[in-house]
Formats: sequence, structure tokens, C-alpha cells
Amino acid sequence: MPVIRMVPLRIALAVCLPVCAFAAPAGPQRGAAWSVRITPQRVVNGAPVLLAVTAPATLNSLSGTWMGHELGFDHSTGNNWFALAGVSLETKPGKYPLKLEGVTASGEKVLFERTLLVTAAKYPTVKLTVSKEFTAPSPEQQEKIKADQELKHDVFSRVSPEREWSGSFSAPVNAETSDPFGTRRIFNGVTKSVHQGLDYRVGPNTPVSAVNRGTVILARPLYFEGNCVVIDHGQGLLSLYMHLAELKVKEGQQVERGTPVGLSGATGRATGPHLHLAVRWQGVYLNPAALLKLPLPDANSKAAYTRK
Ligand SMILES: [Zn+2]
Repeated sequence: MPVIRMVPLRIALAVCLPVCAFAAPAGPQRGAAWSVRITPQRVVNGAPVLLAVTAPATLNSLSGTWMGHELGFDHSTGNNWFALAGVSLETKPGKYPLKLEGVTASGEKVLFERTLLVTAAKYPTVKLTVSKEFTAPSPEQQEKIKADQELKHDVFSRVSPEREWSGSFSAPVNAETSDPFGTRRIFNGVTKSVHQGLDYRVGPNTPVSAVNRGTVILARPLYFEGNCVVIDHGQGLLSLYMHLAELKVKEGQQVERGTPVGLSGATGRATGPHLHLAVRWQGVYLNPAALLKLPLPDANSKAAYTRK
């Protein structure tokens, strides 16, 4: 059906134009009809990014690298592919090369490279007061913290290559947010940290649901995080739910978007009941609010993304 396929392709190219202002071609370049579309168009440190690529030929596979991360692209329609990526908070503003490698049905490799501009996001600074045990833990508490770190290292190093998430991500609770991602925090006037998640203003025992489809890889109490759930959405993307009063899922359990994972609370290092949602991608924390805003394709209707 060539007529139907032409429409989304043409629209994809038209929408691409403003993005190209941010993406100057650089280095070796082969293939004339590549197009890379970025959502959101302004890429900042700490934010997830959806990359939509139109390749010059019909490909069997498409992979890429960007800032040391491996990108696995999923096919959508025709010559269109997409991948979810992200920029760490620590990334300095600048231009970073995106290298793409496609393989055609006959085994031929097609390469493309262009730079993507990363600009600086503005994140606020706040002062907080918490119990002393969280800024000056006892030797016993330090043991627990060390054990947690080893467990988290193990959990975070697991990457299931297949995509489990499908469609856009949805909020874990229906509530206002209090503390945004990226806030620089000073605990008790001394300890400094950066808020690597998004806080929701919820009272105790509010049902908390999974933001998308995935597998529960951690559901247990931790020292700072309190009762904590980690869901693996595939391709290195994890969501974390902290300070829960009660866990409603078990490790190894499959969940869908909206599956209850626990009840909100104030366990761990928390100034009061709230939900801390974090999003981790290939070793870096990303802004959950930005992920929730991304229009993402559904696994069952792959054309959704190119329709824009
Ligand atoms: Zn938080």
C-alpha cells in the first residue's frame, strides 16, 4: 500500500526540520535519506529522549551508540525505527555524536552519524531536615547501607535486552508532585545530594501502581529507600518506587501498567509520607516527569508513533 505509507513518511520528514537545527551532520556519512527526529526537541541533562529514525533502505536491524550507551532500535513501520535513550544529570552541555548502524536484508551495512545538542536544564536547590541516623548512621546502620549498595549494584547491572514497556508511561498515583527531579538538597545543613526522582504528595496507604509493563526485580525493605519496588521494563529501563508502607508484589512477578505495586508510606529516609518515583536507564537516573510526558508507541499498534 505505497500511498498509505507515503503519508506518515512525508509528515515525519516535515516535522524533522526544526530538529535538524539542533543536529548538525558530522564525520563520515553514508546514505542520503536518513532522518532523525528527537522528542522532546530540546535535549537536556537528566532527561529521557525518544529517537525516531527513518532509514534510507529497508533494514533488518538498526542499532546505535550515543554517549557510551548502546541503543537498540525497534521497528515501527516501513523504514521507521525508534529507541528510548537518556542523558545523565552530569552530562555537560555540548554536541554528542549519534552513530547508527543498519543491516539490510542482503547483509549490507549502512552507517549514519550526526551530532545531537545537549543543553543544560535548570534544577533548584532546597534545604531539608531529617533524623540524624540518615546523615550520620551508626556502624551497624552503615553495615546495612553497604549490604543494600551491593544488592542494588547487582539489581541495576541486570539488563534484559527485550523491550517489555509498551505505549506511554502513566503516573503511579493520581496526585500532585512536591519535589521535582534534579533538586540539589542540603540535609541538616551538611549532607548534599541531588534528588534523583520525583516526589508525589500522597498520604499514607495510597495505592501505587506500575508506570508500565515489566518484571519486578526487587521488592524488599532497604535502609534509605524504605520498602522499595524496582520494575525492569526491558532495554535497560527501570522504574523504582520508594518509602512504601506495604509491598503488593513479589520479585519475579510480571506487571502491567496500572498493576498495584504497594501502598505509599514514609519508610526509609523520608521527611513524611510521600511516594518517590525514580527512573533509571543504563546506569543513569532520568527525570520521571519527562518520561511520563513522552508519546510512546504501543507494542500492539506500532504505527502510533509515525502518525504524528
Ligand atoms: Zn524523593
